[in-house]
Amino acid sequence: MKAAICYETGKPLVVEDGVTVESPGKGEVKVRVAVTAVCHSDLHFISGEIPSPLPGLPGHETAGYVDEVGEGVTTLKKGDTVVIGTVGSGCGQCYYCTIGARHFCVERGAFMKPKHKNKKGEPLTLMAGPVGGFAEYTTVPHELVTRVPEDMPLDRACLLACGVTSGFGAVVNRARVKAMSSVAVIGAGGVGLNSIQGAAFSGAYPVIAVDVLDSKLETARAFGATHTVNAKKEKDSVKAVMDMTSGRGADYVFVTVGKVAAIRQGFSMCGAMGMTVVVGLAQGDLQAITPMEFVFTEKILTGCGGGSVRTSIDIPYLVSLYQSGKLKLDELITGHYPLARINEAIASLEKGEALRNIITFD
Ligand SMILES: [Zn+2]
Ligand SMILES: [Zn+2]
Repeated sequence: MKAAICYETGKPLVVEDGVTVESPGKGEVKVRVAVTAVCHSDLHFISGEIPSPLPGLPGHETAGYVDEVGEGVTTLKKGDTVVIGTVGSGCGQCYYCTIGARHFCVERGAFMKPKHKNKKGEPLTLMAGPVGGFAEYTTVPHELVTRVPEDMPLDRACLLACGVTSGFGAVVNRARVKAMSSVAVIGAGGVGLNSIQGAAFSGAYPVIAVDVLDSKLETARAFGATHTVNAKKEKDSVKAVMDMTSGRGADYVFVTVGKVAAIRQGFSMCGAMGMTVVVGLAQGDLQAITPMEFVFTEKILTGCGGGSVRTSIDIPYLVSLYQSGKLKLDELITGHYPLARINEAIASLEKGEALRNIITFD
């Protein structure tokens, strides 16, 4: 089969034939990949910002068809249409699974074994759970695989694997935004737009989008933002958010851009007793937050990875929201590219021209 392999950081991927993947073992499922969206985490993997041994096989927002099931898998069968999540539904037995936080399942590290080999027989490192989405076939633990209805378009479904759930889940699962509360979202990209639609869905008002591009702020309005702040044109974005929230600051702030300065800014525009949630993967140390700020405001600063997703609950729920017209997915897709043109899809995301580009497999 063919796959797009990263041999050297910062270089285009190599589309190679003769790649192999193991047959599914106990508890595993082999999936024929139909589509994989390109996400910013793939760019971080390819650029080396997420350090990883090479050669590697990126791609993790994947949907396709069950090809073969391993021993003990009873919930899936050949031909099922599925999304492969990056977060498993958990072992169901450990401390975290028992308290309902399956995204912290202690077994999740066990999922990281490489299953693919390149044409020379070298193992390929995978990213973000063992997805291996830039290959025609992949073999993954069944916990990562969620069946979706046959009439759910797979190029939409694959977005639920990571980008949509990261943004939406930070709002509904991590922060549990209350109706009639105020929300600010820094960054109106692929993840931020989903925090915005999650906030609107939760009944927040105002929903303030903060970005440096007017075009992105316009899209943010279509996703449910009621107010916008252009952080480049506005002299003081913190003050702008204060003014939009009766001088108090937002009850919840979601920082979806990967910059430490944005986290500091987000914490400043959050009101007393509010919560700031770090969603974007920023490198570097956080700029000083004084202990006084915590003591006298009771603000909470926390983070959220992968939307604290409850895979088996959230993915079917988001599918039903999409199918009833309450979740925007079509608007997140910029273009479709066959595997042979994957480097064009990556370059367009890098340049900021795309929200999500979809790699298609025949
Ligand atoms: Zn992703
Ligand atoms: Zn567990």
